[in-house]
Amino acid sequence: MSINDKLDQLEATARPLQLDAAARASRTDAVRAYVENWLTELPDKPVFMEDRGKRQAGTLTIEDDAIDIDQALAILAEQVDSTGQNTGSSRFFAYIPSGGLYTGALGDFLAAGVNRYAGVDYAGPGAARLENALLRWLSKEVGYPPGAQGDLASGGSIATLSAIAAARQRHDIRARDIENTVVYLTQLTHHCVTKALQVAGLAECRTRQIGLDAAYRMDSRALEEAIAADRAAGLNPWLIVGTAGTTDLGTVDPLPELATIAAKHGLWFHVDAAYGGSFVLCDSGRQRLAGIERSDSVVINPHKGMFLPAGLGIVLVRDGAALYEAFHARGSYMQDMEGMGVDQAHSACDFSPELTRPFRGLRLWLSLKLFGLAPFRAALEEKLLLAEYFYERIRAIDGFVTGPPPDLSIVAFRYKPARGDANDFNRRLFEAIRDDGRIFLSTTTLDGAFTLRMAILGYQTHRNEIDTALEVIEEFARRLDS
Ligand SMILES: *Cc1c(COP(=O)(O)O)cnc(C)c1O
Repeated sequence: MSINDKLDQLEATARPLQLDAAARASRTDAVRAYVENWLTELPDKPVFMEDRGKRQAGTLTIEDDAIDIDQALAILAEQVDSTGQNTGSSRFFAYIPSGGLYTGALGDFLAAGVNRYAGVDYAGPGAARLENALLRWLSKEVGYPPGAQGDLASGGSIATLSAIAAARQRHDIRARDIENTVVYLTQLTHHCVTKALQVAGLAECRTRQIGLDAAYRMDSRALEEAIAADRAAGLNPWLIVGTAGTTDLGTVDPLPELATIAAKHGLWFHVDAAYGGSFVLCDSGRQRLAGIERSDSVVINPHKGMFLPAGLGIVLVRDGAALYEAFHARGSYMQDMEGMGVDQAHSACDFSPELTRPFRGLRLWLSLKLFGLAPFRAALEEKLLLAEYFYERIRAIDGFVTGPPPDLSIVAFRYKPARGDANDFNRRLFEAIRDDGRIFLSTTTLDGAFTLRMAILGYQTHRNEIDTALEVIEEFARRLDS
């Protein structure tokens, strides 16, 4: 076969990849109808859908033959979208709820549909400007100075990795220093910090788990003593990780005290506000997070507190140069960018471990633009108040006990049964509530006690849903305790 014949044949086989306008429209319509149907039914779906062994069916495997969009959607409906947790439900109170604003999905559709290259200013100047505008905005809301820089990462874990890399860069931690370098955190610090240290090659740093005070916040006196002791022992105290909204309890470490200690002893102060950081957008939240503006780096997940679908965590670094120095790199294949003013502009690739990446700012930008800020600020203020509401009411129900009032929007509680093992009782209570499906909670262990937690962060969660939760929880506690 001649090369021309061969090319003709390959072209004919590859052609289906190029959908024409009519083919695009029919597929888009099918997908739109599917999502619409899903969202219409969501309010009536159980919040947790048991996986009834459907995984064994083989239709998810990749095969040579093509199927049409209706067949593909049927497989998704059957195998994927009818199992597990409905994170976007208004009655989802487990882990940290992740809303799924529809405008976020539209932003993703636009981003992928048009496919602007957002990683490099030269390749997508408008996309880079849009993302920089988001970073400037959030930086200002946090209270950082104009020199701060940041990155739109896929989530809190990768954002944390970037913060750790910037902290290492600024403190010039070399291989020979690692064993003498010390990180300060608490038992409630998210495991993404340990992961980030590992990925950054810093697993052999010493970590000090600082004790908690009665309100489950880092004990700042104990922190200062630990730093002094380490310094006296010739070690290199490097990094304090404060959490502004622990995943377990929503507690906020004493940020002003930690900032003062970090400044006094010359440590990097990172705040993990992946869950809680969005609360800077409302007045009560900003007060509760006071001191966050004095940190060296902070992580905030819009896929939590700004209600976006999974896929966006933001890192901000006060000294933007530290982030740049940690990630700036060039290859000769990028030489056309030079002399285009690129190095004066903010290209995401200079502040991120990523080069090519989704234009993920668009989902947040579109949402903030289409709604304006007021609904976000109100929704966040509402969540804080709903947590207080739940806290007061669950305490008032006979048999339920709680810890201190919530710092943010998570309430930990458990039931004290008349007889029998309390941990066993609360596990059964949790399982009965999960299997009922009207609400979905999650649990943790607190001072050895099996504890239920109610995390309130859905944009569509209002007083009515909290009342439902209280009813369901009380109903099953009574049933199991009779
Ligand atoms: C959710 C969370 C993280 C991790 O964020 P991902 O987006 O899941 O990677 C880190 N820290 C805290 C406090 C969190 O709540």
